[in-house]
Amino acid sequence: MSKIHVMSETLANKIAAGEVVERCSSIVKELTENSIDAHATNIKINLKKGGLEAINVIDNGEGMDATDAHLAFQRHATSKIIHDDDLFFINTMGFRGEALPSIASVSEVELQTSDGPTSTYIHIKGGEILEEKSASLYRGTELTITNLFYNTPARLKYLKAENTELYNTLNLVEKLSLAHPQIKFSFTNNDKILLKTSGSGNLLKTIHEIYGLNVSNKMLEFKASNNDFDIYGYICKPEILKSNRNDISTFVNDRIVHNAEINRAINDAYYTYKPEGKYPVVILKINTDPTLVDVNIHPTKQDIKLSKMNDLYDLIYTTIKNCLYNNLLIPNALKEESVSIIKDSVIADIVNNMTKDEPPKVQTELDFKIAVDNSNNTPELKTSDEVIVNREMKSLTLYPVGLALGTYIIAQNDEGIYLIDQHAAQERINYEKYMKALRNKIFATTYLLIPITVELSASDYIYLKEHINILTDLGFVMEEFGINTYLVKAHPSWLLEGHEEESVHKIIDLILGGLTNFDPAKFNESIAITLACKMSIKANYNITHEEQEELLNELVLCDNPYNCPHGRPTIIKFSIYDLERMFKRVMN
Ligand code: ZN
Ligand code: ZN
Repeated sequence: MSKIHVMSETLANKIAAGEVVERCSSIVKELTENSIDAHATNIKINLKKGGLEAINVIDNGEGMDATDAHLAFQRHATSKIIHDDDLFFINTMGFRGEALPSIASVSEVELQTSDGPTSTYIHIKGGEILEEKSASLYRGTELTITNLFYNTPARLKYLKAENTELYNTLNLVEKLSLAHPQIKFSFTNNDKILLKTSGSGNLLKTIHEIYGLNVSNKMLEFKASNNDFDIYGYICKPEILKSNRNDISTFVNDRIVHNAEINRAINDAYYTYKPEGKYPVVILKINTDPTLVDVNIHPTKQDIKLSKMNDLYDLIYTTIKNCLYNNLLIPNALKEESVSIIKDSVIADIVNNMTKDEPPKVQTELDFKIAVDNSNNTPELKTSDEVIVNREMKSLTLYPVGLALGTYIIAQNDEGIYLIDQHAAQERINYEKYMKALRNKIFATTYLLIPITVELSASDYIYLKEHINILTDLGFVMEEFGINTYLVKAHPSWLLEGHEEESVHKIIDLILGGLTNFDPAKFNESIAITLACKMSIKANYNITHEEQEELLNELVLCDNPYNCPHGRPTIIKFSIYDLERMFKRVMN
């Protein structure tokens, strides 16, 4: 029986908006999702010249009979949607009947398909059937697209260079593999294998097959749910960071999605665990009732809208943050030998081959639609007692051995040697102290015997006068004194002793630095980071053995002992095994 039903006209019109086919990667996406819908367990994607010359997709799925094969090229024929209502319950991958007809109208397509008993071959160019016959093929479907956009030169021009198209498609196939670890994917370009997964059904193994050992060894598993959402996946330790967002993969009901809020939750959870402009490797799978998902806001189906987004944000943010908090994250000085990093060499190849004006960061539908990097938007940090307190790190004892280069504390324990960046460590400790004081509004004030005088320009004075409540709210006691001058008679007690005057000036500078939209949380964060950095021991200052001991003891008790507030590492480890390997005491 024929499985494809022709869509009603109204439904067709609803969906027809927007173009489905714009890139090589969007064609591969449509074809591959059709294969997934046909329950394929093995999908091979082969490109010639990044898809510009040929795109070939072979699967071992259910295949089509002659009638369906013929209907597949008719606009709005689809096996997946029959009624308007179904649009709201889409749980399958592809659902637009026009994908294949659209592709066939702007290229040359050869389809060979078999549902078992029958096999069909159809050859179409520019929408015209050139040949249709029975053929032989083992169960499954093979589609080959050539001469893409040959009859629409305007769109041909929109295709990027081979390497850009290839890079985008590779990124897409990686994400499809992560979405479906139970499917065996292989991907080639000009007969060179770029990606191969085993279809083991194991997500971590798939991560390994894509990223290699160096990354898969540094992944942390997470799992959580609330009333409406189940989330599951892996995040990387902060020592593995990438320079673009392409390795953040998010899925809703196994569909690749882009959603600015979901990405913000991930980014916020990594707050101060990474520097700005660096991005983690994340595989986040969200399962939910399809009625909470509105997929139709973008024709490529990757942008989605979700109901109950705030609940989902909290779930993702808290889960990832706890996952980082509960794991020991001291990076090892030595990298593990990589075993199967086809990817890195491929990317290096691609990037090397790119011309200067063609950077690897490409704007396509695969890029996040909305800049997510809300770095100005400081997330509300949970206090440590809200999270599980008992961690390996807190019980870690580090014995200082000495200070090298006036900058790095060398420490040891029975696991190995550690190098601690003294400034970064001090900065982290002070930052958490300031944040805690500001968050808990511990504003005990210290009165000064000799007030601090703050002289300002006339305009700054007027500005500060207008915003003086910011200072008094923090616990400062301010008094106007003569022309353009304030006296600071008392300051919050948490200011670092001996640095009170410097701190006062720093805070006033922050206020004068422009506060058109004053956000107290953001302001507190700026105070904490600025003061922490300025007040922390400068490099090249020799601290005593006791001071080193105290610093290390305080560091291990921090919420995040691994990074300074700017996301730089504070501590690096050489395990005994690393050292023995380096000195060839052990061979391998
Ligand atoms: Zn600093
Ligand atoms: Zn820093």
